[in-house]
Amino acid sequence: MRKQFEMAGERLERHNCQSWQEEDWLYFSCPDCGFTRKLNWKTGELALIHQGDSKALHSALHAPLMEHPQVENSN
Ligand SMILES: [Zn+2]
Repeated sequence: MRKQFEMAGERLERHNCQSWQEEDWLYFSCPDCGFTRKLNWKTGELALIHQGDSKALHSALHAPLMEHPQVENSN
C-alpha cells in the first residue's frame, strides 16, 4: 500500500530532523531548511529556535538510533 503525504490541494514537503540530547533538552534540527526546536524532557517545555520552512512536515524521532517510521496520519 502506498503512503500518502499529499493532502487535498496542499503539498507538504517531508523533512527528516536530526535529534540529539543536551542535558535536559532534546534538540531537533532539520538539515534541509534549518528548522530547529528543543524539548525539555523533564518539564515538557517546547521552545522554537528556528522556524525554518513552515510548509514542511517535520518528522523527528526521539530515539535517533531506532529506525521506526512514525508517519501514520490518522484522520
Ligand atoms: Zn525542514
